[in-house]
Formats: sequence, structure tokens, C-alpha cells
Amino acid sequence: MSSIISTRDTTSYTVHSIRDLTESAYVLRLDRHGLQFEPGQYISLGVADDINMREYSVYSPVHSDFLEVLVKEVKHGHVSKLLRRLTPGQAVRLDGPFGFFTIDEQARHERSFLFVGTGTGISPFHCFAGSYPELDYTVLHGVRTLDECYEREAFEPDRYKACLTRDDRGDFRGRVTDYLREHPVAPETYCYLCGNCDMIYEAFDILIGQGVPADQLFAEVYF
Ligand SMILES: Cc1cc2nc3c(=O)[nH]c(=O)nc-3n(C[C@H](O)[C@H](O)[C@H](O)COP(=O)(O)OP(=O)(O)OC[C@H]3O[C@@H](n4cnc5c(N)ncnc54)[C@H](O)[C@@H]3O)c2cc1C
Repeated sequence: MSSIISTRDTTSYTVHSIRDLTESAYVLRLDRHGLQFEPGQYISLGVADDINMREYSVYSPVHSDFLEVLVKEVKHGHVSKLLRRLTPGQAVRLDGPFGFFTIDEQARHERSFLFVGTGTGISPFHCFAGSYPELDYTVLHGVRTLDECYEREAFEPDRYKACLTRDDRGDFRGRVTDYLREHPVAPETYCYLCGNCDMIYEAFDILIGQGVPADQLFAEVYF
């Protein structure tokens, strides 16, 4: 986790709408104003009258008219709460895009991908799936219950595996790392890991142990 108090100039964007997905998760849709980004990148967001900004992966596909982020309102969190209180037409401060959690064009056409995300760590993979319809991927989404699978219909059904720790209605009962241990990955796979650092460290070790070279492992740590 990193939190930014921005010293750069930021640009003002307008809230289009907020879509609640669960009690604590929502999609914040902004007017895009032509912002260019690469799938997998993130932006920094803050509200107009508050100096704090936080990073959010872009959730919406690259060709979408809007810019969306998937946010979990963190208990006792600061910015994730302020963003949820915004209403259509209000301004947000935005900086970016930033980051290198992207897929180069050659790999996109030649490689198979494994995406592993916990919670809102599904966000960059939602952007990949919508932006690159030809991509050969499997996505493992680790959450507690089925309702936290957010907008899973954005993924091709046979490519999305819900790994649920407290619910039997998913594709797998257990953590994403349990799934990885039980379903070894082909060493030529490109693996993208996103979410909390404990999952990322554990998944990294498992995948290295299964013969995936370190230069085919990519990580985006949220907290
Ligand atoms: C590159 C990057 C991309 C990110 N993308 C997203 C994204 O797409 N969606 C998203 O919801 N968050 C994302 N985050 C996390 C986000 O930047 C904030 O940390 C989060 O919204 C909490 O901010 P806050 O001001 O509400 O909480 P703070 O007041 O900063 O307090 C946060 C506390 O909650 C913990 N925390 C942070 N995030 C979570 C979480 N998801 N679940 C449980 N505890 C948490 C922190 O470790 C800290 O202890 C990303 C982080 C990074 C570094």
C-alpha cells in the first residue's frame, strides 16, 4: 500500500455516476476528457477539497467513452470513503496514468496469460479482458463470497475461476494460492498478480516452484 499526497498539478474530472456492486464496493465512472492510458495502468484520485490522493487501476476498457475505477470502501479508510460520497457532476482530482503492469503487443498475440487477483485486484484484468478480446487468458479471482465476484460477466465464463473462501457456489472453494497448488501452471505462461502483498508473495513462490521464470511474473501490489 502506498498513499500519495500529491505535489503535482492535478486535473479536474467530473463524476458521471457511481454504481454500487456490494455494500462496500462500487464503480466510479468519470467523464474521460480524452485521457489516454494503457490497459493495466492506474490513476491517482482525490476529491476537490482534500489534499490526499490514492491510486486506482483503470477498470474500464481502453476504448470506452468513460473512465471507470473499481473501489472498495475500506473500513476506517480516508479517500475510498470520500470518493463514494461524490455525486454526478462533482469534480475529482486526477493524476496519471502511471505504471508498468501492462502487456506488450507481441506477448499479447503469442502468449497464454494467467491473471490472479484478490478483491478489487480484479480491476486491471477487467480492463485487459475488455480491451483485448483476442487475449488467451485464465483469471483467478480470490474473494470471500459469490457476491464479491463483481461484474464477472465481463469475462468469458470458461476463463473466469471464482475462488471463494467462505462460499461453495464458486468454481473453487479456497484461496487462489490453494487453486494454484492444485492446478500447476505451464512454465511458458505469463502470470500477472494483483491485490494484497501476502497473496502476491505466496503466489510468486508457488509459480517459481512450478517452473515459471521470474521474468514472466508481473505484480501490482495494492496494500
Ligand atoms: C498501484 C495501486 C493500484 C490500486 N488500485 C486499486 C483499485 O483499483 N481499487 C481499490 O479499491 N484499491 C486500489 N488500491 C488501493 C488504494 O490506493 C487505497 O489504498 C485504498 O482505496 C484505501 O485508501 P483509503 O484512503 O480509503 O484508506 P487509508 O486511509 O489510506 O487507510 C488504508 C488502510 O486500509 C488498508 N487497505 C488498503 N486497501 C485495502 C483493501 N482493498 N482492503 C483492505 N484493506 C485495505 C491499508 O493497508 C491501510 O491500512 C491501489 C493501490 C495501488 C498502490
